[in-house]
Amino acid sequence: MELKNENLNSDGKCVIAHYHEVALKKGNRPRFVSRLVDNIKVSLSDLGIRDVKALMGRIGIFFNGTVSMEEVKQRLEKVFGIAYFSPAYRTSHSIEGTEKAILKMLKAKKMDFKSFAVKTKRGFKGFPLTSPEINARVGAYIKEHTSAKVDLKNPELSIFIEVIPKEIFFSFERFRGASGIPAGISGNVCCLISGGIDSPVAAYRLMKRGCSVIFIHFHSYPYLDKTAQDKVMELVKNLNAYQFSSKLYLVPFGEIQREISVTVEPAYRVVLYRRMMLRIAREIALKEGARALITGESLGQVASQTLDNMTTIESAVSMPILRPLIGMDKDEIIEEAKRIKTFDTSIMPDQDCCQLFVPKHPSTRTKVREIEFKERSIDIDEMMKKALDGLEEKRFFYPKTS
Ligand code: ATP
Ligand code: MG
Repeated sequence: MELKNENLNSDGKCVIAHYHEVALKKGNRPRFVSRLVDNIKVSLSDLGIRDVKALMGRIGIFFNGTVSMEEVKQRLEKVFGIAYFSPAYRTSHSIEGTEKAILKMLKAKKMDFKSFAVKTKRGFKGFPLTSPEINARVGAYIKEHTSAKVDLKNPELSIFIEVIPKEIFFSFERFRGASGIPAGISGNVCCLISGGIDSPVAAYRLMKRGCSVIFIHFHSYPYLDKTAQDKVMELVKNLNAYQFSSKLYLVPFGEIQREISVTVEPAYRVVLYRRMMLRIAREIALKEGARALITGESLGQVASQTLDNMTTIESAVSMPILRPLIGMDKDEIIEEAKRIKTFDTSIMPDQDCCQLFVPKHPSTRTKVREIEFKERSIDIDEMMKKALDGLEEKRFFYPKTS
């Protein structure tokens, strides 16, 4: 289907996007809506949009030229905050004009249907007819001019009508949106992203709750190759479609691991690595004005994710650590990774930094005091300084405007 260039004052084709108003506290609504409008503008910025504006409880998106609805659909499906959206037609603010315009469009599109239902929503309560009255009136008109019958329960075609103060829109299709809260509205968080299956899903979950996610990846280059870094770049590129602009910090971690491995016995190394990761991530978070760290941990999944070890690991920093996947099974995480299309990249083989200098069976029951004692033999400040001096920063933008 194609959306054509139309004059705003005639039967203009556009997209109407809806959000879940009930989920919003009244005072926050204007901020929510204006962020959603901005995010839609960015998401479609290279497709020739003329205007995106709030229209009484919904958002109207208008185009300059011909755009592919398939492309628009793919973009809007990734904009958090949209509950559902429809390619729509604008018509005059009269019931006669509306029924005629609907019939004309059904004929023009050669739409074949044996049953239909008219579903009206009034954003403007001052319209002379109520929603049921509009449904009945338009329904009778369509029935009279086609051979289709009305079926409210299981119609082949749904005709959606939306009444706002000066305009009426109608549409024949509805697509599900990504739901959630507009990206960027809840503040900055830093996600420790590994290139595995879990952390990209964790980042997605926080984006969906409105966070701007800044990514941090620890790598062991040149001790290991760059496959993990390449995967992370690809993952961030994919995830960036949900927040439109992203930053990825690559932190050199191999030297820290080497130094820890010289002084600390194998069973404790993973826990010490993780504590160093959190300390470094916290410094980056402070610099970025981020208020929490995110990990892809899920309880009991691997040795470092027992309750004992998570407690020991998180005690290294004073900053909230959000673990959106903590109660999920691997199967559930994999299902979500497939849905958000990070799975195929995540399962590509790599040389993950956590494999470096660690035994097959690390200790699962470490205690804070015991670990703090072991840390006395390493120079934490010096290690952090070196890692932060070697930071590399990558930027991602979506859609690509070049
Ligand atoms: P993932 O699939 O996200 O790699 P995992 O089940 O393999 O998770 P671990 O390897 O124990 O679990 O990592 C737990 C969490 O620690 C990860 O989800 C991620 O948030 C963080 N993490 C692990 N390795 C790295 C890394 N190299 N860089 C950044 N964060 C990491
Ligand atoms: Mg991993």
